[in-house]
Amino acid sequence: MSIRLRLTLLYSGILVCTLVIFSVVLYVLVARFSLQWQERALAEEAAQIVTQGEFRLTVIRTPQGKVAIPQTFVQTRDLSGQVISRSINLNGYELPLSSQGLTALTNGPATGWLEIVRTDNGRLLVYSRTVTANGQPVGILQVARPLADLDQALAMLRRYLTVGTVVSTITAFFVGWVLAGASLRPINRITQIAREIGQARDFSRRVDYDGPNDEIGALVTTLNEMLTELQAAYQQVEHALQAQRRFVADASHELRTPLTTLRGNVELLQREPPLPLEEQRAILADVAAEIERMIRLVRELLTLARADAGLRPRLEPVQLGSLVEDAVRQAQLLRPRPVARVRVERDVVVRADRDLLYQVLLILLDNALKYTPEDGMVEATVVVEQGRAGIAVRDTGIGIDPAIMPHIFERFFRGDSARSGEGTGLGLAIAKSLLEAMRGEIRVVSRPGEGSIFTVLLPVEPASAEGEARAAPSLVSPA
Ligand code: ADP
Repeated sequence: MSIRLRLTLLYSGILVCTLVIFSVVLYVLVARFSLQWQERALAEEAAQIVTQGEFRLTVIRTPQGKVAIPQTFVQTRDLSGQVISRSINLNGYELPLSSQGLTALTNGPATGWLEIVRTDNGRLLVYSRTVTANGQPVGILQVARPLADLDQALAMLRRYLTVGTVVSTITAFFVGWVLAGASLRPINRITQIAREIGQARDFSRRVDYDGPNDEIGALVTTLNEMLTELQAAYQQVEHALQAQRRFVADASHELRTPLTTLRGNVELLQREPPLPLEEQRAILADVAAEIERMIRLVRELLTLARADAGLRPRLEPVQLGSLVEDAVRQAQLLRPRPVARVRVERDVVVRADRDLLYQVLLILLDNALKYTPEDGMVEATVVVEQGRAGIAVRDTGIGIDPAIMPHIFERFFRGDSARSGEGTGLGLAIAKSLLEAMRGEIRVVSRPGEGSIFTVLLPVEPASAEGEARAAPSLVSPA
């Protein structure tokens, strides 16, 4: 059953109950008060008959002015209940008096007795009272009136109330149906739009609603907020997918270049007649260098793919001092120029994966050495910052152009000055991925022509001393 029908039935049901209760109470009250009024009037009339002039049980004289009312019947009885006389309009009919009434009147204490009797012409209200002479009861006076008018009025009231209730209920049902439909229309619209959004996957669409800020307004606002979130999430996934596609395309391209060079070189070596030995040696050296580059590229791609798939680093306490010394030594073995120094004024223990952090350091040191001229200087320093610590790798090299700064952590991005070198453009991207996996962070400050500082920061191992913080070094011009 639809909410619309349920609401309409509920409201109509409540209205029916209210109207029925109201009608019943009204009818009962009107019937009771009208009867009481009739009773009082009849008792008054009986009193007037008794008190006017000289009243005799044998001669019925109706009060002045009331004679014209043929609807008032009068009758007298003696104390044994025997009828003595009755008014002419009774036409021989005897006004009844129950034995109960007779007993009550003759034995006291009642002086008046009311009875309703049914006759062929409808109900009759009979009032009986004792008549006294010198303080002694001598007989009974009975006055009666037909209740036909009252019954007719009550029957009419009953009819009006019934018809009124039925008509009001039917009207209320239809009005309620229309109103419920009107107030539920926005919900139908929301359902329709939500369905369309789901089918078309168009999360940029919003539910337009210019009604008041009531429950439906709140629903629309919440729905639109949810759509905004969905749109953001969808776009994020879309960007990630695009980045992944670009990455695969770039990786294929990067791998194809050395392979093409290799094929060219191999074809040269296969030539008939063979090339002079000297040239063959030079080509073989090229082939070896190219293979070396490919091995490095594939290794780096593998590292990135693993990081993308969700690296699970083995986090443990890592002493920064020895780690940075080892890394600088290793980096200098690979690239003996320029001079690299290590400054460890305070040793700190961070929470990291030793191997991954070592890899990051090698990338930063290798870059620093790579992009710094022979007379320059590279320095690795242990730094401590509120709750975190790490290593700053400072060089007095070529620095980074602010225009390319936002891109240096992108995959396969290489600055102009680096293009001719042997880099793959993956180093910083790998460093960033590895640090993120360890809940660390990488920052860079650089000035073209002056040098750069790459700082990696990781959470400090709680047991190690912290707080005696030393700020990361500021950029200084090469001496
Ligand atoms: P690459 O293999 O080219 O070094 P990276 O991802 O390691 O790739 O670095 C991206 C780019 O950032 C480099 O091509 C270079 O332009 C710039 N860069 C990185 N480190 C430094 C540095 N220490 N000094 C100057 N430029 C740097």
